[in-house]
This record gives sequence, structure tokens and C-alpha cells, in this order.
Amino acid sequence: MSAPIFDPIAPVRIPIKGEESSFAVANVYGITRNYDPDGTLRALPERPAPAIFTKSAQWVVGSGAIIPYPAATERFEPEIELMIAIGAPAYQMSDEAAAAAIYGYAVGLDLTRRDLQHAAREKRDPLDIAKWFPGATPLSTIVRTTDINHPNHGAITLDVNGVRVQEGNLDQLIWKPHEIVALLSRFFPLVPGDIIFTGTPPGEVALKSGDILHGEIDGIGVLDITIEGAQK
Ligand code: MN
Repeated sequence: MSAPIFDPIAPVRIPIKGEESSFAVANVYGITRNYDPDGTLRALPERPAPAIFTKSAQWVVGSGAIIPYPAATERFEPEIELMIAIGAPAYQMSDEAAAAAIYGYAVGLDLTRRDLQHAAREKRDPLDIAKWFPGATPLSTIVRTTDINHPNHGAITLDVNGVRVQEGNLDQLIWKPHEIVALLSRFFPLVPGDIIFTGTPPGEVALKSGDILHGEIDGIGVLDITIEGAQK
């Protein structure tokens, strides 16, 4: 094969706690509607199936990033989420087998142009326009399952400028991480480097330029970002 006419985009690399090597991001998947604070949905004989979406792997950024306020939105919102980091191929796996494909976990933000999402949903248009923009996926240092196992409990919080705006606990997840991996693996051959959003706890806020975000999941880590630049 001849040389490419331009330098291919290099994968984003995220640090791993206790590891010299980094985690090169391949694809970004996510599910929605996965927190159930009062337990009613978890108690149903058939839990409601989540929706599946994707984001650009190119626009993952590490903790400490300064994120430009994205273009074309007047309602820019954060979603604090537990992120799954895939470390082995997973295709059409059982729940049990899927757990072994999880390399580790991180704190992530699913940043969203909410006004564009709502407008697209109303018109039954694709929703990608809400989720694809530079800086859309901030991610903390990854912690390995060999160090922490699989979390099933722990507070998940987001503060904006020191004010608590989102709060939940991992024990409120309707679909657990290994079940999410198994679900996605029915549709996609997951590969090492894939990361998966697992849904966000209650709490909404509109972000503006200058906002300082601090996300935290007990036992997983912290994520700090700043929003800068004018609305366009
Ligand atoms: Mn989300």
C-alpha cells in the first residue's frame, strides 16, 4: 500500500493508573436512561432496554482539558457517567464472558448540545449533531479491573463552579457494566480501546464559558475540565 497523502489522525491516548503504558481510544459507544434512583425500573420483570449511541473517538480529551464552548448551541449540558474501557475483543458474548472483556473504568462526561438533540428528536432526525464536536468526551485516568474489580456501588457526582448539579450512586444502574458490554456486543464487534458510556444520574444544568467542572466517582477517580470561549 502506498503512503497516505496526509498523516492519519492518531488515536487519543488516556493514562492508566499504575501503568506506564496508555489506553488508545478506538470507538466511543454509549447507552441512555440507565439510572433508577427509586428502584422501580430495576424491579420490573423486564427491565426497559436502553438506547445505544456513538460519539467521535477523535474528540475524547483527558482530565485537565480546556474545552471550547461548542458551535451552534445555546443549551450545552454535561452528563457525568461511569465509563467502561474495553481491553479484549467482545462479539456476541454472554453477560458472564463480557465481564472479562472489561479492562477498567473511568469517570467520563457525555457533553451534549441539548437543544440540537431535542430539535433532532422532534423531527426524527439522527441525533449525532448533539454529540459530535471537539472536546465532547472528557475522560479521567483509567483504573484497572485487576486493581478495583467491577464497581457496583459508589457515589457519582458532578459539581459546576463548586455547586453540586448531578448526584447518584452506581447501585442505581438498571443495566450493569458487564450487561451493557454484552448488549453492545450483540450489534458491534467491540475491540480493545473501545469506551462505553453507562448513562447519567439525575440533574441538569446549562454550561457557559468559564465554568469549572469537577466530576467524581467513589473508588474510580476524578475528572476536571474548564469550558472556555464564546458562544458561536
Ligand atoms: Mn449520556
